[in-house]
Amino acid sequence: MITPAEGMTGRLTILGLGPGAADLVAPRARAALDQATDLIGYGPYLARVPERPGQRRHASDNRQELERANHAIDLALDGARVAVVSSGDAGVFGMAAAVFEALDRGDPTRRSLLVEVIPGITAVQAASARIGALCGGDYCVVNLSDNLKPFETVCERVASAVAAGFVTALYNPVSRARPWQLNAVLDRVRTRLPGTVPVLFATAVSRPDERLVVRALSTASAADADMRTVVLIGTPLTRTIPRPNGAAPWLYTPRSVPAGTSGVADTATPDGDAEETAACA
Ligand code: SAH
Repeated sequence: MITPAEGMTGRLTILGLGPGAADLVAPRARAALDQATDLIGYGPYLARVPERPGQRRHASDNRQELERANHAIDLALDGARVAVVSSGDAGVFGMAAAVFEALDRGDPTRRSLLVEVIPGITAVQAASARIGALCGGDYCVVNLSDNLKPFETVCERVASAVAAGFVTALYNPVSRARPWQLNAVLDRVRTRLPGTVPVLFATAVSRPDERLVVRALSTASAADADMRTVVLIGTPLTRTIPRPNGAAPWLYTPRSVPAGTSGVADTATPDGDAEETAACA
C-alpha cells in the first residue's frame, strides 16, 4: 500500500491545454506545467508542452486512461508534482474523470492526495467562437466514440439532443477504426431536423492548419471530418449572417426560444424513423 510521505509535497494537477494555440492555455495551467516534476498524457498532447530541463515525461497511448491515471496518482503519492495533461478541458472527454475513477475504485488511503483540476478552453467553445456564437443557446456535447459506450447509446443521445432543440456537438467524429459512424449519425439527425439546418465542421481550430466548413444538414457528410474535427449541428433557430466581399458568414444561435416551443417542434419536418440506417436503428 502506498501512503503519502510525512510532509508530503506531492500533488496531482489535472489540466487542459486548450484547443491548440499556445495563448489559449490558461495561465494557471501554464504555471502548473512549469512547476511539475512529471508530465503524464497522450504523446501528441505532451508534445505541445515546451520541454523543461529535469522534467520527466510519461507519454502513453490514447486508450490506457485508467492505467495512466493510476500511474499519475502513484507518482504524486511518492512526492512528485504531477501534471496530467489533456487537450481542451480535461473534464470534457479527457483525463479528469479517469483520475477520479481511479481514486474511486482504488485504496481509500490514496484519497489524502492533493488534487487540483484546472479548467481549459474546449474545442467546442473555440469552434463556436471562431464562427460567431453557434453555441449561443442551450447546447449538448456527445462523444461519437464507441470505445466506452455502445454505439446505439451514441445514436440515441444525438437524436434526443437534436430533437430537443440543442445545438449538438460531436467529438471524435471519425477515426481509422470508426469510418462510418458519423454518416450513420447524420442520417439519423436528418430524420429529426430540416435539411437546411447548418452544420459546422471545425478542424484543428486555433492551429495553423485550421479549417472551417459549413454545410446544410442535407449535404453534410464525413468527407469534411477527420480525427481533429469537432462537428457542430445547429438548430432550426440558428441564424447565418452573410457578409460582404466574400467574407465567411457568421453563425449564431439566439438565446431566445419562442414560448411554448422547443425551438424544433414547429420547424422540423422529420421524415420518420423509416429513414434511419440499419447501423443506427
Ligand atoms: N478534452 C477535449 C476533447 C478531447 S477528445 C476538449 O475539451 O475539447 C478529442 C476530440 O476533440 C477530437 O477528436 C476532436 O473532435 C476534438 N478536438 C480537439 N481539439 C480540437 C481542435 N483544435 N479543433 C477541432 N476539434 C478538436
